[in-house]
Amino acid sequence: MDAFRQEVRAWLDKNLPKGWETPGYVLPEPFSQEAQDLGKWWTKKLYDAGYTGFGYPKEYGGIERPAWEIAIIRQELARRGTPPGPFSLGLLTVVPTLLDAGQEWQKKRFIPKILNGEECWCQGFSEPNAGSDLANMQTTAVKDGDEWVVNGQKVWTSAWKFGDFGILVVKTDAEAPRHRNLSLFIFDCTSSGFSRRPLRQMSGEAEFGEMFFDDMRIPDENLVGELNRGWYVAMTNLMADRGGGSGGAPAGVGVRVLGGVDSLIELAKNTRRYGRVVWEDATFRQRIAQFAIENEAMRWSGARMGVRMRKGQFTGNEASIGKVFSTEMAKRRGDMVMEIIGAYSQMVKGSKRAIDDGDHVYRMLRSRGSTIQSGTSEINRNIIAERILGLPR
Ligand SMILES: Cc1cc2nc3c(=O)[nH]c(=O)nc-3n(C[C@H](O)[C@H](O)[C@H](O)COP(=O)(O)OP(=O)(O)OC[C@H]3O[C@@H](n4cnc5c(N)ncnc54)[C@H](O)[C@@H]3O)c2cc1C
Repeated sequence: MDAFRQEVRAWLDKNLPKGWETPGYVLPEPFSQEAQDLGKWWTKKLYDAGYTGFGYPKEYGGIERPAWEIAIIRQELARRGTPPGPFSLGLLTVVPTLLDAGQEWQKKRFIPKILNGEECWCQGFSEPNAGSDLANMQTTAVKDGDEWVVNGQKVWTSAWKFGDFGILVVKTDAEAPRHRNLSLFIFDCTSSGFSRRPLRQMSGEAEFGEMFFDDMRIPDENLVGELNRGWYVAMTNLMADRGGGSGGAPAGVGVRVLGGVDSLIELAKNTRRYGRVVWEDATFRQRIAQFAIENEAMRWSGARMGVRMRKGQFTGNEASIGKVFSTEMAKRRGDMVMEIIGAYSQMVKGSKRAIDDGDHVYRMLRSRGSTIQSGTSEINRNIIAERILGLPR
């Protein structure tokens, strides 16, 4: 076991970016091309070494290893705090969707290149008049020979700029009732008739954007799942999204935990508010304790879901619990941090007196988006109420 740990450590020493872990090393700006290139480069390196891609079928590029080796790899990667992967929805939502509903050629063609970071994905579900009410979407695809001609617009598309491919839900039957008129396709982001442009968020970056389809053609073979049953494929996808990490929670269903308790305590101990150290204020200590308790509750709730999953009892709806809980917690945490740092919360990134270079402010602002993406808290509470608790609609 020790020999294997040494092997992983030696590999990391040799392969981590030059200057990594030195004070002079600065990660590229998130969502920049430089950050994307670094994420792709690093994921490919990990994959080629057999240090990522676990838990997926071997025939689709998954890497098989004994559990103890995987545990050591993960421990060593965590210890060194390695670069983040590329900004892509591939791993989070596309792989689960393809594994569940994709055709064999689609799984073989696309999954390996998602696992090795080579190809990135975006996802076009939401439209200007179809967010929570997704079934109301108006983008159409009309069959022409062995192709579909797509017209319409999608909005709030994460990773819009980096998508090599996208998954797209469109109306394929003008007559059929709601939920039975949609289909899900894979599209190539280099197709003619496709264009995209940024939308800037209040947190500053253009993490998401808009996509336009003007007679864009998609081959028929790119259909995922059954024709006119795209609603059900999309729901699988959204459950994966809710369970997998919406809101920046670092892990998947089963181990969802927000973390950040230690850094909160440290901040409270190192910050003065109205002339006294925040940690000395019992109300703040109680709020931080409450946060720690909820964090722990979320961890155990995630573990319970993991067990249900392994026993085949997981319906997917449970993902909404972790989604609401973790994203709302992140929002509360952000608000509490603003109260702790007081007037410094006005200092954004780049300001000379900003605490932590404005990162606290950024995280507070960004946390709002997480309570909206992949289904708002209200929508997820409705799911919990109706489909888990069995309350009336
Ligand atoms: C950071 C971020 C990333 C995103 N990434 C993507 C992406 O990659 N791809 C994509 O397709 N979409 C993406 N989205 C869009 C997201 O899925 C939608 O914003 C979300 O589903 C809400 O839709 P909407 O914005 O149209 O709001 P609306 O549906 O118009 O909702 C407005 C308000 O009404 C409430 N509401 C609506 N219906 C009900 C109801 N039945 N009961 C109670 N309350 C209700 C909502 O909770 C909300 O508060 C992203 C959004 C964000 C913030």
